[in-house]
Amino acid sequence: MKIVVLDGFTLNPGDLSWEGIEKFGDLIVHDRTDFSPDKVIETIGNAEIIFTNKTPLPQSVLSKTSTVKYIGVLATGYNVVDTEAAKELGIVVTNIPTYGTAAVAQFTMALLLELCHHIGEHSSAVFMGDWTKSADFCFWNYPLVELAGKSMGIIGFGRIGQATAKIAQAFGLKILAFDNYQNPELESDTCKYVTLDELFSQSDIVSLHCPLFDSTKGIINKHNIAKMKDGVMIINTSRGPLVVEDDLRDALESGKVAFAAVDVVSAEPISADNPLLNARNCIITPHIAWAPKESRTRLMNTAIENLEAFIKGSPINIVNK
Ligand code: NAD
Repeated sequence: MKIVVLDGFTLNPGDLSWEGIEKFGDLIVHDRTDFSPDKVIETIGNAEIIFTNKTPLPQSVLSKTSTVKYIGVLATGYNVVDTEAAKELGIVVTNIPTYGTAAVAQFTMALLLELCHHIGEHSSAVFMGDWTKSADFCFWNYPLVELAGKSMGIIGFGRIGQATAKIAQAFGLKILAFDNYQNPELESDTCKYVTLDELFSQSDIVSLHCPLFDSTKGIINKHNIAKMKDGVMIINTSRGPLVVEDDLRDALESGKVAFAAVDVVSAEPISADNPLLNARNCIITPHIAWAPKESRTRLMNTAIENLEAFIKGSPINIVNK
């Protein structure tokens, strides 16, 4: 059986093993594949099993790959595959439902702590000699913020939202959660569900943890930012298009939003003209919240389990039933 990984580099840049997949057939791993349909079709060749992380598999590609029986998506989001077309062609598509909850929650808090203390900037300033030249025993270049007693609005109170809330509560933050689906058992003295408008108007920090849907696209826009507290902090570790980046840039420039930290942007890799690259008080990281080795190991193990289950005739984690 021929198995092709179209873009394996981000999952396994060399610190994990493909052995678990290799044992099922002849494996070819491509670090990345050019996204043009012709190139993708050529790379797939006559493989029966393919894995993709971000390489698009639209109907135009799938209809020309007659040998493919199984597509393993190496991520949770599977919008890169035309799942309907795959279904019509009898191709099973699976995803990795969860692997990085702890890592993304931890990273969200790392961004928040960076916004509160600017540790990277302060350390750089020391190495640049600013402390040596300082008249006082200490100095700081940004306002330093204590979290205890403040309110953190969490939009999307699912796995990552809840895991973030747990850590945040340990810092003394009160959680204001918004979700379409509410579980009253999650409410406590320090955590309650609110409406979206209440979340916007009462939060000192707004953190995004909902999926990207038509209904959530652009949820951070100038109208909703206007409802927020002056000096609010915004964190996005979910999906770039949840934020209207021009509106966030303007709000950072005016000071309405004091600081923002984003791990995801509208187009990735980030384009040179992304408005946030010119915004003040904005931290941008290159979509790394998911990527500690521990999470990637979990992802690889689930990908292996998915393939094994498919080969044994009882596939799991199917997204195109
Ligand atoms: P999840 O499905 O457990 O939780 C998502 C929650 O959002 C659910 O509770 C759902 O009810 C809620 N929701 C759906 N529509 C909503 C709406 N319109 N308004 C408010 N809430 C809504 O997913 P998760 O595992 O917690 O992941 C959350 C998101 O994190 C993912 O969708 C993904 O975009 C992102 N993510 C980012 C990284 C990264 O590396 N930065 C890694 C993994 C996941």
